[in-house]
Amino acid sequence: MLSEIADNKTNDPDDRVRVLTLPARYPQGAEKVLVKACTDREIPMGKLPSDVGCLVMNVTSVAFLANYMKTGMPLVTKRVTIDGSAIQNPQNVIVPIGTKIADVVAFTGGYKTEPKKMLMGGPMMGLALASDQLPILKQNNGILAFDEKEAHLFEPTACIRCGRCVSGCPMNLLPTLLEQYSNAKNVEQLTEFDVMDCMECGTCVFNCPAGRPLVQAIRLGKIMVKAGGAK
Ligand code: SF4
Ligand code: SF4
Repeated sequence: MLSEIADNKTNDPDDRVRVLTLPARYPQGAEKVLVKACTDREIPMGKLPSDVGCLVMNVTSVAFLANYMKTGMPLVTKRVTIDGSAIQNPQNVIVPIGTKIADVVAFTGGYKTEPKKMLMGGPMMGLALASDQLPILKQNNGILAFDEKEAHLFEPTACIRCGRCVSGCPMNLLPTLLEQYSNAKNVEQLTEFDVMDCMECGTCVFNCPAGRPLVQAIRLGKIMVKAGGAK
């Protein structure tokens, strides 16, 4: 459908617009991954898309900007996915920004069971919520609520050096080393091994058979690097 619109000479007389279909894989939406998939250009560590002649803009943001220019109406609502094993009726809803999360869940039919863990965001990158009394924010696309079984965390075991976290990292980082350097508070090595390039996609944790809390350690490592002003 989009390809047909772009291919139509009336819409695009200079043939400057192309619609690319990418395979459904995770993570695909991150800037560096998108630029590589669409143009085969690699953004070097510490660089931006503009350094390789690209500009990445979120389609929803562009649509919102167009609407704002036309009507003057600022962003006051969000489309939010309410899902998870503790949710009675999973669905997408459009809610005013600032609405209490508990009220949004109640609007969809409430909880099926007492939620043991809630996330703001998706299952891979979402942030744990301390309470459902917090508001929907403008950057919020999803609320997930899990029952006891799905919220259960397994005790991590020792790294078996299988390398799955390394081979699956879309940023070509070494998550297992970054975890070690973070635990050792070694800011110099964290910087040397480009911890700031981690986009916290969670792929390394998903792949790890030992259940190592790699992203949690990497997040702490990034905070240490920022605090140290190393980057
Ligand atoms: S979260 Fe893990 S897999 Fe994702 S970019 Fe960071 S180190 Fe790589
Ligand atoms: S995936 Fe887990 S067990 Fe395997 S090397 Fe990485 S941290 Fe170690």
